[in-house]
Amino acid sequence: MENMENIDWGNLPFGYFKTDYNVRCYWRNGEWGNLEISSSEIINIHIAATCLHYGQESFEGMKAFTGKDGKIRVFRWEENAKRMQNSANGIMMAEIPLDLFKEAIVTVIKLNKKYMPPYGKGASLYIRPLLIGTGPQVGVKPANEYMFLVFVGPVGPYFKEGFKPVNIQLVHDFDRAAPQGTGHIKVGGNYAASLKPGTRAHDEGFASVLFLDSKENNYIDEAGPANFFGIKGNTYITPASDTILPSITNMSLRTLAKDMGMTVEQRQVPIEELAEFDEVGACGTAAVISPIKKIVERKTAKVYDYCKDGKAGPVSTKLYKKLRAIQEGEETDKYGWNLIIE
Ligand SMILES: *Cc1c(COP(=O)(O)O)cnc(C)c1O
Repeated sequence: MENMENIDWGNLPFGYFKTDYNVRCYWRNGEWGNLEISSSEIINIHIAATCLHYGQESFEGMKAFTGKDGKIRVFRWEENAKRMQNSANGIMMAEIPLDLFKEAIVTVIKLNKKYMPPYGKGASLYIRPLLIGTGPQVGVKPANEYMFLVFVGPVGPYFKEGFKPVNIQLVHDFDRAAPQGTGHIKVGGNYAASLKPGTRAHDEGFASVLFLDSKENNYIDEAGPANFFGIKGNTYITPASDTILPSITNMSLRTLAKDMGMTVEQRQVPIEELAEFDEVGACGTAAVISPIKKIVERKTAKVYDYCKDGKAGPVSTKLYKKLRAIQEGEETDKYGWNLIIE
């Protein structure tokens, strides 16, 4: 067990961190059992479990913050819970009731309270719910048993050296998800499909990949594990597409943008429009906003440059600060986005 007093919270990576407990719950004979507490990092699983063979797997990601007032706040857990129900439904797994989801995250956070990063370090407690088909099948059928588990771990700030724009690579030769496929739900299979273009982009010096719609290869879809948005004058524009995973961060930014008097558009964004944005960014729980410096189209080597001075744009910065302030209890939570644990 780590001596938490020596932890350099501000420099923790976004990675696995061993804590004391995780929570688990099993769905058998058509119903969920009681939540169980475990101190093991290992699960014992049937060799024919459907999650291993046929990808019956969904996950979630959210964060808890220690606020300015010392209270623990979890950001928009109910949206994650509903999204996980939607994912479960999409690949025929048992849905987790909202109250069970809530009980699981509250329990696991309280049990691991000593791993909760303090206020002001930019760090947070990352919460990872996981739902898997554990029942055996060899024929392609949904499992008859499921396991829901939640583990947590402290993660450092996404931007260790401040809010810094990154370069991303627009690709034509890989798709993240198929039209009418599973792009709109948070399932592991989509991620397996993104590993190859993602690794290539890293090797070629980019922070991530920007995927196009897989039907026409002409509209912006999303940026790997994050949604895409562009700012044009006083308008916040984000792609509408059936293959995009609906980001809760993006949903929150749209609300904040409207609040600031901006117009919000959710519609198709053709590649050519990239030349018209003042600012662009990727958004998701890990970074909130990852401002984009350059988008490089791999096929043509065409470059879209958004910040010649290397700094994030004013609108992205304002949106980022506003959302972070709500998460850390510095700003009134007028939409009731935070669950205060204790
Ligand atoms: C989780 C995820 C996001 C970001 O969603 P948030 O709710 O904002 O964290 C974006 N795209 C994909 C593909 C994802 O899996």
